Amino acid sequence: MPPEHPPGPCAPAHSADRAGAADTARADLLRRLAIRTAERARAGLLRRARTVERAEGPWQEVGGRRLLGFCSNDYLGLAGHPQLIAAFKRVADDEGVGSTAAHLVCGHRREHAALEEALAEWTGRERALLFSSGYQANLGVMQALLARGDLCVQDKLNHASLLDGAQLAGVTLRRYPHADAAAAARQLAGEPGAGALLATDGVFSMDGDRAPLRALAALCRREGAMLMVDDAHGLGVLGPDGAGSVAEAGLGVGEVPVLMATLGKALGCHGAFVAGPAGLIEGLTQFARGFVYTTALPPALAAAALAAVRVARAEAWRRDKLDALIARLRRGAAELGLPLLASDTPIQPLLLGEADAALAAARALEERGLLVGAIRPPTVPAGGARLRITLSAAHEEAHVDRLLDALARLPRAPAAAGAPV
Ligand SMILES: *Cc1c(COP(=O)(O)O)cnc(C)c1O
Repeated sequence: MPPEHPPGPCAPAHSADRAGAADTARADLLRRLAIRTAERARAGLLRRARTVERAEGPWQEVGGRRLLGFCSNDYLGLAGHPQLIAAFKRVADDEGVGSTAAHLVCGHRREHAALEEALAEWTGRERALLFSSGYQANLGVMQALLARGDLCVQDKLNHASLLDGAQLAGVTLRRYPHADAAAAARQLAGEPGAGALLATDGVFSMDGDRAPLRALAALCRREGAMLMVDDAHGLGVLGPDGAGSVAEAGLGVGEVPVLMATLGKALGCHGAFVAGPAGLIEGLTQFARGFVYTTALPPALAAAALAAVRVARAEAWRRDKLDALIARLRRGAAELGLPLLASDTPIQPLLLGEADAALAAARALEERGLLVGAIRPPTVPAGGARLRITLSAAHEEAHVDRLLDALARLPRAPAAAGAPV
């Protein structure tokens, strides 16, 4: 028999509705998914992972071409640091790769314990608890802390995992306009009887700006709400010793009892942690299902992350260099009249509006040997498509100049000067 054609996006995705299928009114789940995929394709919003054949510092080899990347979250340039690699190899040689079990069974090794201690010390918290990813950590915290009938107040631009966490917990979710502490206060005041958690990104992942943490802490104190900060993009980059945006804002554990951050961005590794008072960590250990029911991170990775914490704290020059590169990019972009969003972090988005404009700009940059991510809805609001330019201490000034040169050559929109390119 000739092989069947692979199903196109609109074709019935499998044949259960044909020969021998039961005659029911049930939805064909794969077919429904295929229709949604086709709709996304029609809107020009289909996503696809590209295979990077080789990565080395900011360089990425894609399709046989070596591209200079401005899209990773390796802000301090630690992913390829020799001390991290040595720590990883040492433990993998000694103990193998997998942790072989969950933390509460027999997966919790001394490398995990040492890393948790170092993270608690760095962030000025009593204790810290490792999770296998930031996504899981946010789900785990919300699901352990919140109960039905509670209120969770969040910034509109928070990371998807915080929104998903509140939904999973089945609480009332209210989203306030971006960085609007007064609106957050009204939402809290509107439900004075409910247990309440206010959750915010410390640095917003697609915009690069910071949350008004001091104002949020003050209103949480006034309203008796708990404050949670997701500092995935602040840890290592901001604050004294790189301790993050919460430390930069001078907020202790009393003001921000729940601090979550990841190991996969500025620390160049993988995984995440929650730091806070001992009682929080004890409770998460009991009730955060994303901690209890999952395999612990590989111990070699924990060892590499511990090395990353040490390097991030000790090598302040990485933050200084990053600041200088950020200033250089912003100066050059201002001279060119490019609409960079207001951000002084390594996330420097160039707002382009429509999804196809962002895609066209990313393609034009790639033709000039540069890899920059085009971020489109639904990751950002409609009309907010952008190039998400990220800088790293692994970049050099000449790299930033090369990026500026390529940005200057992008075709300008027909609108007036100063309009998005
Ligand atoms: C990346 C990110 C996460 C998820 O962390 P992973 O470890 O990649 O799962 C959570 N929150 C924010 C703000 C992030 O940017």
